[in-house]
This record gives sequence, C-alpha cells and structure tokens, in this order.
Amino acid sequence: MRIAVIALGKIGLPLAVQFASHGWQVIAVDIDPAVVTSINAGRSHVTEEPELAAAGLSIRLAPALAALRVERLDRIDRALQAMRDPSYGTCALCGREIEVERLAAALETRLCGGCAGEAVQPRA
Ligand SMILES: [Zn+2]
Repeated sequence: MRIAVIALGKIGLPLAVQFASHGWQVIAVDIDPAVVTSINAGRSHVTEEPELAAAGLSIRLAPALAALRVERLDRIDRALQAMRDPSYGTCALCGREIEVERLAAALETRLCGGCAGEAVQPRA
C-alpha cells in the first residue's frame, strides 16, 4: 500500500518516516525546495529541533529517510500559474481549445492533444 504525506514539518516528517520504517511505500510532498532537497539527500531538517533530537527521533529518522520519496508540488504550482493566464485552456501552439479530458488529466498542460502528439482518450 502507498501512503502520501503532505508537508514535512515536525509532525509530517516523523509520521512519514514511521510509515516508511514499517515497510509502507511513502511519497511525501512539501512546497519548500530546501526541505525536499535535504530529505532526498538523507538529511532531516526536523532533527535540528532539540526536543526531537533528545527523544531519539534523529536516530530513528536516519535509516528510514532513504525509504522516503519526496517531491515538490511543482505540478500544482505550474497549474495554478497557468490558470492565472487569460489564455488558459487555449493551445499555445495552434490556438485551439485544449480538450477537457486533457486538462482534467494534466491541469498545467499548455498544448492540445494534436500539438502534443498524444492521443486523448474520451471519457466513457
Ligand atoms: Zn494545438
């Protein structure tokens, strides 16, 4: 089973690590690129909190950090950015309307299916 943990602060990171240390596949996301980079490099920003380090969390965090896959919310950021543009929903190459199914699958897309060279499957 997979678990997603959103935001890796004092609660989110230890929680994600606990799931990972019990063999669950954990995907964690955080909006702070510095947090994502440090965790993906095997370092925890949370263990610098004195009370957490004193509780031995830093020791338990270290091996389980390797089991975490941490991502930044770039897709959502890009989608929100794209929606601010008045031309949102219009293909950046041909100017036609982007298919609703395509936008539903990838909110941040700027190209219609034809220009992207992808087949868009209509909804049943
Ligand atoms: Zn197009």
